[in-house]
Amino acid sequence: MIFRQIFDSVSSTYTYLIASGRGREALIIDPVLEKVDQYINLLNQLDLKLVKVIDTHIHADHISGIAELRDKTNCVTVMGNKTPADVVAMRVSDEEIIKIDGIDLQALYTPGHTSESFSFLMGDRVFTGDTLLIRGTGRTDFQNGDPKDSYNSIFNKLLKLPDQTLVYPAHDYKGEMLSTIIEERQFNPRLQVKSVEEYVDIMNNLNLPDPKMMDVAVPSNLKLGIDLNRQKVNNGIEPEEFNKIKKEENTVLIDLREQNEIDKEGKLDNSNIVPFPSMHDYIEKNKDSLKNKKILFYCAHGHRSTLAVQISKSYNFGNCFHLIGGLEKWKKKGLEIK
Ligand code: FE
Repeated sequence: MIFRQIFDSVSSTYTYLIASGRGREALIIDPVLEKVDQYINLLNQLDLKLVKVIDTHIHADHISGIAELRDKTNCVTVMGNKTPADVVAMRVSDEEIIKIDGIDLQALYTPGHTSESFSFLMGDRVFTGDTLLIRGTGRTDFQNGDPKDSYNSIFNKLLKLPDQTLVYPAHDYKGEMLSTIIEERQFNPRLQVKSVEEYVDIMNNLNLPDPKMMDVAVPSNLKLGIDLNRQKVNNGIEPEEFNKIKKEENTVLIDLREQNEIDKEGKLDNSNIVPFPSMHDYIEKNKDSLKNKKILFYCAHGHRSTLAVQISKSYNFGNCFHLIGGLEKWKKKGLEIK
């Protein structure tokens, strides 16, 4: 396995790059905007194809690199499903599995630091975001943070993981790089409490200054998605119109989502399932038959389908369109779904 922990000294953020081996698919957790070129360099050197990029939560102390990575590498952006839908392409629910080739990651909803914070469990290690830090816990005084939720997420979820599970947080300010669940249970000063009330009391009396970047980072990080305007100018079609066109002859309807998303949300009739990361292979294989067809892409929120239209243009397929707002908007319009 390839596993890298990359430090951003400005915001003291840890970013993780994971792949099952050289030449294979990769994913990145909590990238920092200023470091994107460094990640891409490393990906190239190790011959890795970035397919997914995850933020554990909306960060207040740095601007996330997920949008830049998406636009530079055509990867799928992922966050938990409590995050506003227009921020990322794929939103996972509690306990859902995120897959890349050779690697499974389980999403764990761990609110408290923010109301939309997730942790991600991968075999012997857990990426705790700012929910659980090394000998500390993420502050709970903004972004709908809640010390009771934090207590619950830590005591009833993270500390229930096997003792030797490695803890990899999103930040450290003292140079610690990893810990274990048992160490945190024993030595994390904030966790040596006898009740939820005692923990709430500690968290409510930290009196921390706001993060320096907060006024810039939070609004920017809420705008990382591919907005409806950009979706529209890339041959985006509104749901009602899309519904008409998809019934025309000589059209191919392509669902770019993954099987677990389809199981959860349903799909449109007569869809070909081509998960976005395998789109290149699909086009290569079906180049000749696709050339003369009208191609209609859709996904969950219109992010992957926007990129799919852009990629198709690079193959000189001029006749490609996609569903603005994805199935989310489709459903809001009350249109039919299977
Ligand atoms: Fe944070």
